[in-house]
Amino acid sequence: MHRTVVIGTGPSGLTAAIYLARANLNPIVIEGLQPGGQLTTTTEIENFPGFPQGIMGPELMDNMRKQAERFGAQFVNGWVDAVDFSQRPFKITVEGSDTIEADSVIISTGASARYLGIPGEQDNIGRGVSTCATCDGFFFRGKKLIVIGGGDSAMEEASFLTRFATDVKVVNRRDELRASKIMQDRARENEKVSWALNRKPLEVVAGETGLKGLKVLNNETGQEELIEADGVFVAIGHTPNTTFLQGHVELDGHGYVVVKPGTTETNIPGVFACGDVQDTKYRQAITAAGSGCMAAMDCEKYLEGSVVHDWSETLDR
Ligand code: NDP
Repeated sequence: MHRTVVIGTGPSGLTAAIYLARANLNPIVIEGLQPGGQLTTTTEIENFPGFPQGIMGPELMDNMRKQAERFGAQFVNGWVDAVDFSQRPFKITVEGSDTIEADSVIISTGASARYLGIPGEQDNIGRGVSTCATCDGFFFRGKKLIVIGGGDSAMEEASFLTRFATDVKVVNRRDELRASKIMQDRARENEKVSWALNRKPLEVVAGETGLKGLKVLNNETGQEELIEADGVFVAIGHTPNTTFLQGHVELDGHGYVVVKPGTTETNIPGVFACGDVQDTKYRQAITAAGSGCMAAMDCEKYLEGSVVHDWSETLDR
């Protein structure tokens, strides 16, 4: 039996672990298939305060993990299959190990890359289709690439991929980009980045020896076009990792954990959520870390028995 268990090891989970460990609550921290979370698949982080020259995502996460370990957090490797929040102590079943019991739980399982669901996409993952420029960019030296999406991720991936590729075309379904101005400007100033806006992706087209490109619908002309490329990077956002929570804690229509505004409390007293798994708006490393700190403090108070909110009404998000 443990006082508290943290599920997930991105910036929110690790920050929660640091705070809980320093409060002598000996947290058990469960790391799933992607220890360190999404930041381990990014390159340089320039907007995390305290690193004026930037820091590589994997290094930042490694530092946070070491910091949590230094204060006594214990890490368990595995995938959480099931949870039972209907009775105390809470039960968390981790693949390949016994059920872990705890008085409180912090959910920080983050979000995963989203796919388009178009023909040719899944068949060609690892054969030209990727959602991670940092992981796979290296394999496309001297090649032509497509990045799909118009958000900050797409801008960042497009700029990053020009380190390897000769030409990176950004394909976006709308005329307008969703990305922040600074990220757009950076991509626009890069002469290796070109643009195919107002194009709806229809199919990833592969030949016998590799990708041929991406078939798109040109919304202006109504015509289908094939944009030739050796690789297609899908950068269209993320889905919260909450499948294992369905029916156990309140989720919104998109699968994000619902928390009481201004807190990290879920509808189950003693179960808290922080980071991207509950954040549809900010989704930054620093806001995730901040909410991890909030979750640890809310959890600490809960364990002290001083604040137990009972709120069960559904909130509109
Ligand atoms: P966003 O949700 O911001 O953008 C997703 C993009 O993909 C949009 O252009 C969207 O188009 C497009 N899209 C979504 N679904 C489809 C589809 N089915 N077919 C075609 N296009 C689709 O996600 P991001 O991952 O870019 O960013 C998430 C958050 O992370 C943001 O808050 C961002 O600021 C942040 N971020 C910050 C970075 C930094 O500071 N360095 C780097 C990367 C991300 P549409 O606009 O039409 O909906």
